[in-house]
Amino acid sequence: MADEGGALPAREAVAREVAGRAGVGLEGVTILVIEDPGYQAYMRRMGAVAVTPSDLESPRIDLMPEAFTSLEGLARTLGHERNHVAQLMLYGPPGTESLERWEEASVLVEDQYVGYLRGELT
Ligand SMILES: [Zn+2]
Repeated sequence: MADEGGALPAREAVAREVAGRAGVGLEGVTILVIEDPGYQAYMRRMGAVAVTPSDLESPRIDLMPEAFTSLEGLARTLGHERNHVAQLMLYGPPGTESLERWEEASVLVEDQYVGYLRGELT
């Protein structure tokens, strides 16, 4: 990825490369770049660039093309969603009460991955 200033190609391989550089482990996690227009429209209505479905047998992170707007933004999003994967694996699908706490916890870890990407953390 030579140009890190502009948007990145919205592809699974790009997500996996950025995850690797940011220290986000995605082994065993399916990455879906959302291309279905109906699903995209739904996500835009929700104001979401990514989601980790909680009703699947195996973990999957769904990414909107907007998630690829910047290198650090993508690292932040992947770290956030990867934390949801861990939450799901540990606790199963969330209730309405835990959903809010899960969200707060996942926001908090985002900076760690950005720091790792920048080389501030090792
Ligand atoms: Zn979240």
